[in-house]
Amino acid sequence: MTKAFETPVLICGGGGAGLSMSIFLSALGIESVLVERHAGTSHLPKAHYLNQRSMEIFREHGLAEPVYSRGSQAQNMGAVAWYTTLAGSGPLDRKLIYKMDAFGGGKTREIYARDSACRSGNLPQLHLEPLLREHAERSPLASVRFGNELVAFEQDGSGVTSTIRTELGQTYTVRSQYLVAADRGRTIGPQLGIQLEGPTGLVDICSSHISADLSPYIDDDDPLIRWFINPEGGGSWGSGAIVPMGPNRYDRHSRDWVVHFGFRPDDPEFDEALVAPRIRQLLRIPDLELTVHKVSHWLVESVLASKYRGGRAVVIGDAAHRHPPTTGLGLNSGIQDAHNLAWKLAALVRGHAGESLLDSYEAERRPIARRNTRWALFTFMNHFVIDAGLGMIPGATPEANAAAFAALLAEGEEGETLRARLHEVIQTQRTEFTAHDMEIGFHYSSGAVVGDGTPPPPRAPMGDVYHPTTRPGHRLPHAWLERGGQRLSTHDLCGRGRFVLFTGAAGAAWKAAAAAAAQRFGVPVGVHQVGPGGDCVDLEGTWQGLRQTGDDGAILVRPDAHVGWRAATAPRQPAEALAAALGAILGR
Ligand SMILES: Cc1cc2nc3c(=O)[nH]c(=O)nc-3n(C[C@H](O)[C@H](O)[C@H](O)COP(=O)(O)OP(=O)(O)OC[C@H]3O[C@@H](n4cnc5c(N)ncnc54)[C@H](O)[C@@H]3O)c2cc1C
Repeated sequence: MTKAFETPVLICGGGGAGLSMSIFLSALGIESVLVERHAGTSHLPKAHYLNQRSMEIFREHGLAEPVYSRGSQAQNMGAVAWYTTLAGSGPLDRKLIYKMDAFGGGKTREIYARDSACRSGNLPQLHLEPLLREHAERSPLASVRFGNELVAFEQDGSGVTSTIRTELGQTYTVRSQYLVAADRGRTIGPQLGIQLEGPTGLVDICSSHISADLSPYIDDDDPLIRWFINPEGGGSWGSGAIVPMGPNRYDRHSRDWVVHFGFRPDDPEFDEALVAPRIRQLLRIPDLELTVHKVSHWLVESVLASKYRGGRAVVIGDAAHRHPPTTGLGLNSGIQDAHNLAWKLAALVRGHAGESLLDSYEAERRPIARRNTRWALFTFMNHFVIDAGLGMIPGATPEANAAAFAALLAEGEEGETLRARLHEVIQTQRTEFTAHDMEIGFHYSSGAVVGDGTPPPPRAPMGDVYHPTTRPGHRLPHAWLERGGQRLSTHDLCGRGRFVLFTGAAGAAWKAAAAAAAQRFGVPVGVHQVGPGGDCVDLEGTWQGLRQTGDDGAILVRPDAHVGWRAATAPRQPAEALAAALGAILGR
């Protein structure tokens, strides 16, 4: 065994969550070592949809532009659609069943644009991970070691000692203050006594990464996901769905595609050699030329880690929560876990925070994951509701289902009623495709937050309507401001390890309060005075409508752009009030 070396943070796992963690720590000036047992990044397309919150985090780290330029154009991801088949000349073939707005496209575009400086993105993990790796490796603070596996670790009062094995079979040890498990629950969680609780193995979904020219059969370019439901296929998950995978275009001319279809985990009939014929059958293109690159399977499950922390080790990403990809909350949550944890680890490593700041990671992120794991399973299952809305009966003969389809597509009163019913039913799937509030409206009700006793805004039960608020625990609302002639989002003024205090035209006293708090706690506290006489101009008056505080009030934003505390008006002693809030957040 070679000599041990030391680092403040060891990250185990170089998937989307681990690589994000490495990038975020480097941006905060904290050294880290990342070990990934595979020699390279993922061979599977997997996650592709990046919601607005993840894109805001990427914007903070200079990653938004490369993601947008390498991924889907907005016009190629603003809808999802259901069809009977892609090709074929039968009476029920090539019918568009329904198309709905998705991911901030169509009629939702203005609302999404109002609520964030960033549109949603779409870049398959296959292409995102190399970008993240490149970015992580660029920092001299990060040592990113692919082909290195963590094989054991032990903790004592002052740190963690991990044994790492290289591809050549040599081992070395890393001594770290903290260990971040981004290993999908493979190695570290079980040793910490963490159980992944919840239903698992419900359905086996087979995802095939293929190359094929589907452009002659497609005449619309706006859907990101195309579902096929036909009498023979057996419904949405049974029939299948296709998603363009680029690499250069994500419209009908996409070179690569992923085809998903599900079957029972114990189905003895399933044979991977049948994948290509099954895809041809699904699309009704018997002579389709296609190359199958990889066939992968994932079990539908909805599991949550029983705890997020064991001593100095913490779990993030799929090591903490796993659920179906419906609503795209998997990788997105992993990125957001890392973002929540990074500034806390940085504060701990620098000695600026107490232990309770590390505990706040679980207090804040686990309730979000609990909701997400249930939500993703619910939106997965809701596809069966769509099948029922179409009139499909589970286990019915193809003839019976064909009759249901024919009735649905028929001219006349009955067909109209069936179509109207279907449209109402299918709209319930906005819980997956327009989950605007799930994506940016989540909030922390305990943890590193000082509440002000106000109730949370109402939450739309279908997860689609977001209510911006500066209430502590919530994500800072986005508004466009102008500073020095530059148009900036409120979010552009936050991040990079700083606390930021937003105040109004009569809030000059907060500057001295912020300077005193920064000196006392050793953390940077920026101040932005928005309004006449301040450094920022609220050109459109949007911020004034969102801030929920007076001209002399203040909003303290944490480094992760969540509000930590607010004062509706100036207290008699602003410096003391701010110091008390910051002290509580940092656990000091
Ligand atoms: C078909 C499909 C579509 C999806 N679509 C979306 C989507 O659109 N949006 C979304 O947000 N999510 C989506 N997801 C979910 C998403 O892919 C996962 O949530 C995400 O990949 C989890 O990232 P991670 O970094 O936590 O884990 P992983 O990507 O699994 O990475 C864990 C890494 O840890 C490494 N590792 C494990 N043990 C060790 C060890 N002992 N030493 C060193 N390294 C180790 C592994 O090799 C692996 O590389 C989808 C998933 C699937 C299957």
